[in-house]
Amino acid sequence: MQINKIKIAVSSCLLGESVRYDGTDKHIKYITQVLSLNYNLISLCPEMAVGMGVPRAPIHLVDDEGGIQVVGIDNPECNMTKPLTQYGNEVVEIYPDICGYIFKKNSPSCGIKNVKVLNTQGQYERKGQGVYVAAILNRLPSLPVIDEDDFLDAKVRKKFLYRVSEYSKVN
Ligand code: SF4
Repeated sequence: MQINKIKIAVSSCLLGESVRYDGTDKHIKYITQVLSLNYNLISLCPEMAVGMGVPRAPIHLVDDEGGIQVVGIDNPECNMTKPLTQYGNEVVEIYPDICGYIFKKNSPSCGIKNVKVLNTQGQYERKGQGVYVAAILNRLPSLPVIDEDDFLDAKVRKKFLYRVSEYSKVN
């Protein structure tokens, strides 16, 4: 009998895919070897999805007073804010049945909290959120989300998975 597992989206690099800007991954074995037994994991890498490729020039968040932008560190003219935001909006449409999301921390695309932002004085502050995750949470503010550090904390993970279960009952 086919069992419909609850869908959880996961940053592709946490699943062991070599999609980071430098061709590395950030594999979390607990996700691929344990979580995958009970959940249908959806691998998503926004930077690959918008065609940035591997390897790619690194990007960062910049506060330009008109709002937070994500631009090339070496080439500020390369502004990826719009495509990454658009892709976040597309994911919400393509996967309406996702009930949770495990994001890679510190990423200017995927980081949920405390992502480095270059301020107008030219200094980094850990105050930002990735533009892709911001687009998703703008559309789905109650979607359960977590980063890999919190996910590896058993108590926080248990609360997250409980919220995923509750979310799946009403969505
Ligand atoms: S953090 Fe997000 S954008 Fe960066 S490699 Fe991982 S999935 Fe892709």
